Amino acid sequence: MDCIFCSIIKGEIPCHKIYEDERVLAFLDISNDVMGHTLVVPKTHVSDMHECSNEEFLYVLEKAKTLVGHFIKLGFDGANIVINCKPAAGQEVGHLHVHVIPRKKGDGAKLTMQPASEKFELCEIAKKLEVKD
Ligand code: AMP
Ligand code: ZN
Repeated sequence: MDCIFCSIIKGEIPCHKIYEDERVLAFLDISNDVMGHTLVVPKTHVSDMHECSNEEFLYVLEKAKTLVGHFIKLGFDGANIVINCKPAAGQEVGHLHVHVIPRKKGDGAKLTMQPASEKFELCEIAKKLEVKD
């Protein structure tokens, strides 16, 4: 299978490693957009958060949380956690990854949601989307 993150895990493609254990690898995102932008990936290939087991997902998430604490200890003021699931949601690499984006006050990084709008009828949407079981 042709997967860039599997190639990084195998050491076929270099990365800037931040953390590693037997199950995950964390390395700097190549985009170099926000200083310290890190990806946490499971070492076993799984395409996205919908396809992996809860246990696998929670392990990766727990490591992402640990990295947030690590970054704050190093002097960052906060962090964003971003997980894109499937191409429609902006997932470009089909190997589960959690973005950990350390933040400094006033760093100007833009990770905002859409501006508020009135185009959705929230009562109707809540009725459609409510979890009923
Ligand atoms: P996503 O859009 O959530 O799938 O994010 C994929 C991320 O992987 C992007 O932010 C890319 O910059 C990053 N990326 C792609 N190739 C590499 C690579 N070789 N090393 C590090 N990060 C990469
Ligand atoms: Zn992979």
